[in-house]
Amino acid sequence: LRDAVVKSDKIEVISHLAASVSHEVRNPLTVTRGFLQMLKDPSIPEEKRQFYLDTAIDELDRAEVILKDYLSFSKPQHHQVSMLNVKTEIEKSLELLSPYANHNSVKVTKNLTEGLYINGDAAKFQQCLLNILKNGIEAMPNGGTLTVQVHQSKTSKSIIINIEDTGIGMSASQLAKLGEPYFSTKKDKGTGLGMLVAFKILKEMNGFVDSSSEVNKGTRFTLIFPMINLPYKNEILSNTTVKGINY
Ligand code: ADP
Ligand code: MG
Repeated sequence: LRDAVVKSDKIEVISHLAASVSHEVRNPLTVTRGFLQMLKDPSIPEEKRQFYLDTAIDELDRAEVILKDYLSFSKPQHHQVSMLNVKTEIEKSLELLSPYANHNSVKVTKNLTEGLYINGDAAKFQQCLLNILKNGIEAMPNGGTLTVQVHQSKTSKSIIINIEDTGIGMSASQLAKLGEPYFSTKKDKGTGLGMLVAFKILKEMNGFVDSSSEVNKGTRFTLIFPMINLPYKNEILSNTTVKGINY
């Protein structure tokens, strides 16, 4: 029964996401289509033509941002739960974001304990990390430090990931709205969907998030996941390779 409940919960999450993606992307596509249609008219003045083209390009860029917040790195065949090496996954997302961090003069500091594993879908975990890390970078338009740490809890039951920035921070009311669909303070640069998606993925992975923030000081997200204990040598996995570790 428990499995069935978890499964229907996942299907609900996925179908809700699919519905939101198509809804969100439809607007910019409709606008773009409208402007392209008008561009077919050979008599429109050059000034208007430029405006239509610029708007169409902006709207397509916006559609791309929406898709990135939702599913930039998901490929259908990757949609499966496996044992994830937390350090490796974090390093992958930091690598992907390093041009963006450089562009914003953001320095990245990391302290990642080796050999810690959690259960999850690699593509979705990447998406979750990217959405949170990207917000951290965007909170520091004039530079700052993004710190990422991973360690296990004292009881060895959980894995704790800390993501901290020295950015603009959030007021208590903003913090309370985090993860609400379409809550964004970034005007047309934001979708207000990144945290919603990140929180949904965390829930699917049986993770928790704790957030704290101070205006003009920065923000810290603490992600907590159930820890997987690797089976010991000579038990079950004597000839198996788990993500590069030989038993
Ligand atoms: P978007 O980034 O498109 O605005 P998100 O769902 O990713 O949407 O984030 C929602 C809002 O939460 C942001 O617009 C911002 O106001 C706030 N926020 C999220 N992360 C941070 C952070 N690290 N520092 C400051 N504000 C943040
Ligand atoms: Mg965002």
